[in-house]
Amino acid sequence: MNLERTHQMKLLLTTTLCLGLANFAMAQELAISRAGERPVTQASAENFTGKAEVEMLFLAEEPARSYGGLVRFEAGARTDWHTHPLGQTLIVTAGVGRVQMWGGPIQEIKVGDVVNIPPNVKHWHGASPEASMEHLALGERQNGKSVEWMENVSDEQFHASLPGESEPEEESGPSRAQQILGGVAPKLAELTDDVLYADVWERPELSKRDRSLATVSALIAMNRPNQLRSHMAIALRNGVTEEELSEVITHLAFYSGWPSSVDAVGVAKEVFKNE
Ligand code: MN
Repeated sequence: MNLERTHQMKLLLTTTLCLGLANFAMAQELAISRAGERPVTQASAENFTGKAEVEMLFLAEEPARSYGGLVRFEAGARTDWHTHPLGQTLIVTAGVGRVQMWGGPIQEIKVGDVVNIPPNVKHWHGASPEASMEHLALGERQNGKSVEWMENVSDEQFHASLPGESEPEEESGPSRAQQILGGVAPKLAELTDDVLYADVWERPELSKRDRSLATVSALIAMNRPNQLRSHMAIALRNGVTEEELSEVITHLAFYSGWPSSVDAVGVAKEVFKNE
C-alpha cells in the first residue's frame, strides 16, 4: 500500500515537472530585432577619436555573455587604446581600416578580414586615414564587463606607415606629376601637386574614397584610359573595391555609352592584375 502511494506521488511529481517544463518552453519566443529599427549611437568622444557610429546588434542575457555590434568609422576615426577581458573578434564588413596591438606594426584590414584579439591585449582599431571602415565586433563579457579603456591613439601613432609602405614620393625625388608633365609644362605639374593633390583631394568635405569614385566615373565617361589606369589604382588604395569598380563600369554604360564602359573593362583588367 505504502509502495503504491509512493509510486503515485512520483508519477504526480513527474507529470507536474513535465507540464511545468512544457509551459516554460512555450513561454520562450524567438526575438527578432529588425534591420533599420535598432538605435544607432555616436561613439563616445571619451573613448574614440573622430566620428564613429555604434549599432548594438545583440547583448545576450545572463548567464549567456556574448555581445555583437556594428561599428562604422569615418575616415581617420579610431578607438582609443583598450583591452577586452575575454578578447574580441572583429569582422570587417565595409571599407578599409587599421588595427594594431601595443608594440606591434599597424596592419591594414579589408572587407571579409577577421581579426582575433586575445584577452587583455592592448590594441586599437579604426578606419584608415583615407577611407571609412565598418566592422562587426563580437565578444563576451566577464562579470558584465567587456572593455577596459586607456589613452588616445595619437595622430602620430595613427599615421605611422604600414609595413612595406614607402614614404611619399615628394620626400625622395620629383613627384609623379613632375616626372610626367614637368619637362613640358612645369606650371601644370606644380598646380597638379600643390592645388589638385595637396589641396582639393585633401579637403574633408568628401572622403578620398568618394573622390575616387567621382574621378573614376568622370574618366570612364570621357573615355580617358591613361588617366583612368592610374585613378583606378588610386581608387583601390582609397578603399573602393574591385567589385565596386566593376559596378561603376556597368552603371556608366547606361549614362556614358557602351563603348566607354567596354574600354574601361580593358583598363580595369590590367589594373586588377597588377594591384
Ligand atoms: Mn577592441
